[in-house]
Order: sequence, then C-alpha cells, then structure tokens
Amino acid sequence: MADKEALVISSGEARQPFNYAVGLYGSKFFQELRNNRRIVGVKCPKCGKVYIPPRRVCGDCFVEMKEFVEVGPGGVIGTFTILRYAFIDPETGEQKPVPYGYGFIKFDGADTLFQHYIDIEDESRVKVGARVEPVFSEESKGTIKDILYFRVTD
Ligand SMILES: [Zn+2]
Repeated sequence: MADKEALVISSGEARQPFNYAVGLYGSKFFQELRNNRRIVGVKCPKCGKVYIPPRRVCGDCFVEMKEFVEVGPGGVIGTFTILRYAFIDPETGEQKPVPYGYGFIKFDGADTLFQHYIDIEDESRVKVGARVEPVFSEESKGTIKDILYFRVTD
C-alpha cells in the first residue's frame, strides 16, 4: 500500500567540510605553493607538454611524467566569466558575494589551464589574453587558497 503522506527531504547544511588526499603529485604542488610560493607543473618526457596542476600520466602519450618544472607565476587569461548570480559556497555554507570573476589561467611555461578567481575591480581590463599574476594570501596553508585570486597586470 502506498503511503500518501508528503515526502519531505531536508538537504541539511550546505557546508561540506571534508578532507581528502591530493596524492603524490598534488602534494608536491601544494608543498611548493606553501613552502616556496612556486607553482609547479609536470613535463611529459615524450611530447614536452607541461601540465598544471601536475598529474602522473600524459593524457596524449599515456606515459608517466616525473619531471617537475616551475611555471609562471605570470600568465594569461585563457577564458573567464563574471558571476553575478549568487550561490552557496560549499566551503563556507554562505552565499558568495557577487559579482566576482572566475577563469582559466595559462601560466607562462604551461600548456594546460588552471582554474581560479580573477579580480574584477576594473572589469574593462579583464579580457581573454590579458596578462595576470597570482595574489598570494599572507599565510600559507598548503591549499588552493594560498592564491587568493589573479589580478590583471596589463
Ligand atoms: Zn605527452
């Protein structure tokens, strides 16, 4: 017999506090970021492609990559968006203030794109191809938040 009561499902808290292992290559990336404020990728021994963030196997050649190389810290905006519609930030459980910029950065010396926030204080300067540099947090914790955002330097 079917239950005719309305089914109510609560989504609970929006905050999602959890930890996860970033792996050997992710650890190298975050250690360099935390300890030296260096951004490292990994270079394919076959095709020379530099991946950022680093990963173990080249997606084109299927060979293991072991050569870590410093990239950036400067780069260019590969693509971006300016978000004007608020959503709940899963890291804080709070609505993220809008507007803010988010995009894909191509570090100097890298062949892949890296996602992060982009400063939009002057939106007219935020363009595909514009040069950017990371703005680091005062305190390094070995997380992606060690980079607060990228600012346009053009
Ligand atoms: Zn390759």
